[in-house]
Amino acid sequence: MARSTGSRLTVVYDVLFSEYGPRDWWPAETPFEVAVGAILTQNTAWGNVEKAIVNLKSRGFLEPDAMRNASERVIAGLIRPSGYFNLKSKKLKSFMDFLYDEFGGSMESMKRERTGKLRQRLLSVWGLGPETVDSILLYALEKPSFVVDAYTRRMFQRIGFLEGSEGYGEIKSLFEEKLPKDVQLFNEYHALIVEHCKRMCLKNKPKCNECCLKMRCAHAKSSV
Ligand code: SF4
Repeated sequence: MARSTGSRLTVVYDVLFSEYGPRDWWPAETPFEVAVGAILTQNTAWGNVEKAIVNLKSRGFLEPDAMRNASERVIAGLIRPSGYFNLKSKKLKSFMDFLYDEFGGSMESMKRERTGKLRQRLLSVWGLGPETVDSILLYALEKPSFVVDAYTRRMFQRIGFLEGSEGYGEIKSLFEEKLPKDVQLFNEYHALIVEHCKRMCLKNKPKCNECCLKMRCAHAKSSV
């Protein structure tokens, strides 16, 4: 009997977890730092975000009140290493307005809001797209909201779960409906996908011969 999508997704997770082990995401000291990192990581590598985070931290701006009171220009200068720094400074300020107007500057208060409603509200904040919003929900607020990114799409299209035309919401629903709604599982699964795509399932030349998923992957089977 053919395996269900849910059990196939679980098998992929198990294989990745036994290959790479726990990823300990997100690398940050506070939920606020996670939210800032989620905004800064748009269109750039994490190494660049780390430099921006170090700059913000060294000036004491990785704390809501300080970030709220800093000028857009000062923040832009500090986050320069993350790229698109003027735009990202605006996005950070837009998120700060939301955090203060709606939750008095408290990530804890934000966390108390129901996941679906909060997701809709965050999506209405200027500069926050679905990947950023889901990263904030999952990694900063520990809510069961699966994060989809270009890695997820690439890898699961190659394995054979996706056709390639699916939208963000469709892919997110696939994972959320077929897997147990578990924060730790969603946290680890997304982190493992990123790890696997950086090491093996590369954009141009995937290392299928060395890949732990090659026996389960349509792309690998078709290129034998
Ligand atoms: S077998 Fe190749 S295409 Fe499939 S997941 Fe592994 S690296 Fe990616």
